[in-house]
Amino acid sequence: MAAQHDLPLGELMNADLVRAWRRGAVALAVPAAFFLLLGLACVRGAAWRTWGNHRAPGVVISLNLSHNRGTQPTIEYAVGGKTYKFQTAGNYPAERFAMGQNVTVLYSADRPDFGMLDSFGELWPLPIGLSVVGLALAALAWKARSGLHPALHGLCSFGLVVLGALAGMTVFCLLCVKGGLEIFAGAPRLVTFLGGVLLFFGTVPVAACGAVALWQRYVPARCPRCSGPMRGQHVGRQLIYTCSDCGQRG
Ligand SMILES: [Zn+2]
Repeated sequence: MAAQHDLPLGELMNADLVRAWRRGAVALAVPAAFFLLLGLACVRGAAWRTWGNHRAPGVVISLNLSHNRGTQPTIEYAVGGKTYKFQTAGNYPAERFAMGQNVTVLYSADRPDFGMLDSFGELWPLPIGLSVVGLALAALAWKARSGLHPALHGLCSFGLVVLGALAGMTVFCLLCVKGGLEIFAGAPRLVTFLGGVLLFFGTVPVAACGAVALWQRYVPARCPRCSGPMRGQHVGRQLIYTCSDCGQRG
């Protein structure tokens, strides 16, 4: 007990600081786990498509060209004497496909209508992207246990705005979009419109600003000079961090 009383003020404050940093690590670990699980599920899906599906010859029957977004071709294929068609999920450069071009289609035996173009670009970008985001967040969460450098802390601020907006968007969609809860189903058009607008602005910006405000309020950055807590403050459009122990700015 005596030893604790002898601790200098700075050391006592360190305990709070460590707690604040752990809180930050948890705040980053939650979306990290979410993205990693989602990424894993998508990797599993893509692997199942690649190695577990049957292959059939297909042919490009329409290019669906658009001026600025390239092509999203429609592909026709036949399984067991029945013809099916689908449009690719991804956009491709206009010169990648031609009418009548032969391609390979993936389909599962129990859902032959659920065809997919056999290409890396169709299968893997989403699972890889989600996994990379998850791993990056996990690495940040690990590092955040002992405080983040102001530059990384600022980067997390920006990331949390995006994640907050995505979370808000998800809530908005769950409530309003067809197939969700459809809280405005059967309401007059004006009510649906105004309610939708209000709900949109009540979820997306609030979640985005709320996430970053909580982050800045409860999780300080780590001063590169004295390892003290640094608080971020918006000066114009810039985020400036100032150390409350040594006054270092970054
Ligand atoms: Zn400092």
